[in-house]
Order: sequence, then C-alpha cells, then structure tokens
Amino acid sequence: SESMEKQLADALKSVARRLDIKEYIDRDPVMNQLLKKAADRYVTGEQRQQALHTARELESAGYAVSLEYIGENTQSAEECEQAVQELSALIREAGVDRKGARVSFDLSHIGLLLDTELALRHLLELAQQAEPVGIELFISMEESAKTDRILSVYTRAVRQYPDNIGITLQAQLHRTPEDAVAQLPAGARVRIVKGAYQEPESISMPRSEALDTRYVELVEYVLQQGCRVSVATHDEALIDRMLEILQTAGADRYAEYELLYGIRPELSRRLLDRGQPVRIYLTYGHEWYLYLCHRIAEYPPNLFQAVIDILSE
Ligand code: FAD
Repeated sequence: SESMEKQLADALKSVARRLDIKEYIDRDPVMNQLLKKAADRYVTGEQRQQALHTARELESAGYAVSLEYIGENTQSAEECEQAVQELSALIREAGVDRKGARVSFDLSHIGLLLDTELALRHLLELAQQAEPVGIELFISMEESAKTDRILSVYTRAVRQYPDNIGITLQAQLHRTPEDAVAQLPAGARVRIVKGAYQEPESISMPRSEALDTRYVELVEYVLQQGCRVSVATHDEALIDRMLEILQTAGADRYAEYELLYGIRPELSRRLLDRGQPVRIYLTYGHEWYLYLCHRIAEYPPNLFQAVIDILSE
C-alpha cells in the first residue's frame, strides 16, 4: 500500500503541474470566482492594502512578516517597470510603521528573463529605497535554469547593501552546499527552503531523510558563517530538530522560522507560544492563480483542500 500511496502522490503531482488555471479564469468569470475562493486561503487579496492590513493583524499578534507582490517570468520591459513601481510603493508604505519587515520577490518578476543587468539595476533601485526605511529585500530562488543568474545578481548587489539584501537557497539542489560556500558573504541573510520546483534527479534530491539532513547541515553551516537564517519550512519534524540543534548551539538568536500564510497556521502559533521568532510570508496581487498553482504542485493534497474551499460557504 506504500507503493500505491506513492503512485497516487505521483499522479496527483502530475495533474497539479499540468494545471493551467489562467486559461480557465480568463475564459470564465464563474470559474474565476470559484478558484479565487481556493486562493483565499493562501493570498491576502489582489491589492497592496489587503496585504498591509493582514500584516498589521499578524504583527499585533507577535509575528514578523514578509510581503510578496505575486509575479514571475515577466516578458516585457513595461511589465517589469510596473512591477518595480508596485514594489517601490510597497516598500514606501510598509516602511512607514514597519521597520524589520521583509519584501520578497522573484528576480524574473523585475527583468531577469529580459536582461540580467536590468534585473540588477531594478534590484539596486529598490534597495536604495528600502535601506533608509528599514525594509529588508529578499530574493526568492527559482528553477535551476536561473540559479547562476540569480546568484550573480545577488552577489553583485549584496556588496553594496550587505545588511539589506538576502537570498533564498534550495536544499534540494546538489549544488547548494557549494553555492553556500562560494557565494555567501560573512553575515549574509539567508533563507533555507527545501525547494518548490521539480528538477531532474541528476541535479536535485527528492523529499527524503537525506534531504532533511542536508537541510540541517546547510542551516548549521550558514550559522557558523555568522549569517542570519530563516528556517523556511512547514515540516514539523524538521522544525523540531532545528529547535533542538539551535538551542543547544546557542544560535537561536540568529535564526527565525518563516512559514507561508495559510499553511499550517497552528504550527506557527505553537512556535510563537514557545517564544520563537516567527515570520509569516504574505502574498497579494492579480496573479494569485500562479501562487495557487505553486501551492498545489508542491503539496498535491491541496487539490482536495481547494475543492473543499470552493464548496464551502
Ligand atoms: P515538505 O516536506 O514539502 O512538507 C512537509 C509538511 O509540511 C507536509 O507534510 C505538510 O504537512 C506541510 N506542507 C508543506 N507544503 C504544504 C502546502 N503547500 N500546503 C499545505 N501543507 C504543506 N521554494 C523555492 O523553490 N524558492 C523560494 O524562493 C521559496 N521561498 C519560500 C519562502 C518561504 C517563507 C517558505 C515557507 C517556502 C518557500 N519555498 C520556496 C517553498 C519551499 O521550497 C517548499 O516547496 C515548501 O515550503 C514546502 O516544503 P516544506 O519544507 O514545507 O516541506
């Protein structure tokens, strides 16, 4: 029955990865509304104000926040410019009363696919606005075909803004331990994730005990380098391991737990109740369907959750 479970999981994964929700929502307003109900669990709304409102509620409950304006793989210079303007407004408004908040984005949302130099220029422009208002910028990690370009933009920008730009590393990629050694300056801000993209096994590791071990080793390594680390996972067993290791090493001052809005909220609450620093990753934007697809593809049972959310009052 274990093999049946695996087969079912694989089948669900391939369904999830083939979903092209945009096609349905463009064609059919009813479908649009229904799918939006499924997305509501994970996305605060289409507007910046909705994300900032949820951020305020979470902050008054004791959480820190990350904010993302959803978008990726932007194909034209105008759309990149529009994304940069929205991110600027987000930085400005979040910075008014929210020192320490984080704004996260994909470099492919601000120009990486068009020209690496354009993405770098946009990143530096945003960093120049973020630094004086105490907002930290965090670069997400995308598919492996972009890893070199993302790291090269990061390493060039972080030289100018060492305290304001952070990077996400995916434990699943075989290259990541070497990247951590070669690319991170001392004291870097790093988010460690397992990895959301399906990559060939020649370059990546599936979910497994070995991946969890690599995850732990990466966190330990970056802490030894004096980095500040966000342990970004919803894996409770892994979090329990991290809690123990970090407390024993006295390194818990440099680490925080970061979880996605709408995913395992009871786990974030438990961490907060234990006095741990917890950051919630909030998203907003018109491209909410992209975000919904990612959450379903990384955890196929969310397909059922989506159906339940759609059918519920
Ligand atoms: P898994 O082993 O996948 O899951 C462990 C358990 O967590 C599951 O059994 C389930 O109970 C729960 N769970 C996990 N995912 C879900 C879900 N979607 N819905 C409901 N329950 C779930 N990935 C990237 O590739 N690049 C990034 O830049 C990136 N940024 C991220 C930022 C943050 C703050 C977080 C939390 C994740 C980010 N991810 C990113 C996604 C990450 O790589 C994983 O795909 C995602 O976190 C699921 O893996 P997991 O570590 O939670 O553990």
